[in-house]
Amino acid sequence: MSLTFEFQPNAAPLATGERDALLADPGFGRVFTDHMAVVRYTEGQGWHSARIQAREPIATDPASSVLHYAQEIFEGLKAYRQPDGGVALFRPDANARRLRQSAKRMAMPELPEEVFIDSVRALVRTDRDWVPSIPNGALYLRPFVFASEVFLGVKPSSEYIYAVIASAVGSYWKGGVKAISLWASQSYTRAAPGGTGAAKCGGNYAASLIALAEAGRQGCEQVVFLDAVERRWVEELGGMNIFFVFADGTLRTPPLGGTILAGITRDSLIRLARDQGLTVEEAPYGIDQWQEDAKSGRLVEAFACGTAAVVTPIGRVKGEGFDVTIGTGGTGQLTESLRRQLTDIQFGRAPDPHGWMMRVA
Ligand SMILES: *Cc1c(COP(=O)(O)O)cnc(C)c1O
Repeated sequence: MSLTFEFQPNAAPLATGERDALLADPGFGRVFTDHMAVVRYTEGQGWHSARIQAREPIATDPASSVLHYAQEIFEGLKAYRQPDGGVALFRPDANARRLRQSAKRMAMPELPEEVFIDSVRALVRTDRDWVPSIPNGALYLRPFVFASEVFLGVKPSSEYIYAVIASAVGSYWKGGVKAISLWASQSYTRAAPGGTGAAKCGGNYAASLIALAEAGRQGCEQVVFLDAVERRWVEELGGMNIFFVFADGTLRTPPLGGTILAGITRDSLIRLARDQGLTVEEAPYGIDQWQEDAKSGRLVEAFACGTAAVVTPIGRVKGEGFDVTIGTGGTGQLTESLRRQLTDIQFGRAPDPHGWMMRVA
């Protein structure tokens, strides 16, 4: 199913000089473009009223169900400036599919994948001058859907708004890529069997923030969540998947299975590693084993991955009664190599053997 996007241009876009000043050092998630995509859903009518319009506040009734019961899902993907000045998206079809899966879990209507792709493509084309040209810069796209029915009864909403906003971004971490420290929380979990851990919904993030504050008090930058049943098996960070690299050259990442978000970066790195003949196990890894392996030297590298921060080395993990360094505590060789291989494909500096890039402008 496809929709035609009506184009209502922003009557007062930001002046070129001001835009270029912002694009020189955009940071992460604060610089927004002139336009947004919006599509509405009404039960009985389906998805309708698709348009590209000026980015502006969305009027929301105080009784809109999202404000009370948090029926909300989102996606995150990037558009990359290519060597010839064009713009390409990385695996937007995978984001379109995942948004449908998240919708299913949250009892929301599924946005047709074609409408997702068309919305993102139309927005990037409209705001293509906002795609940064600085090293590692990109246009971060944030598609999201929320329940907009005005009703306080508890049930799936009968109305929804899908929108896509775009933010020019530089490096996710202030000061560029450096190894981060993790706090292994025993007090809080992110996802339980049967819960919403595999859906990309705002509620998962809301529930993770108290653990992030706890990590901060422990002098750590991020949280690594353990499974909710045994508080033993490593799952993922609040918004990134995790990989381990062993001295024998093998990699391991926790298996998907309902409590872990199926990262597109995770999937891409598994493929890139296997392409070069490396063994990647999707297998459970205990926090006890992690400490033992870090101390013995069997574990040589660890990294976190996701669209926003790409690949981030993990230098240290701390928990109740332990604090261990991984490898040298800095960026591992394979970590750096995989980050490089992935970003070379995304920025069009290397061939794209899996057909991951979609040229949009
Ligand atoms: C979005 C997200 C990731 C990373 O997914 P990518 O598709 O690689 O960006 C990992 N974990 C959680 C909880 C997420 O929300």
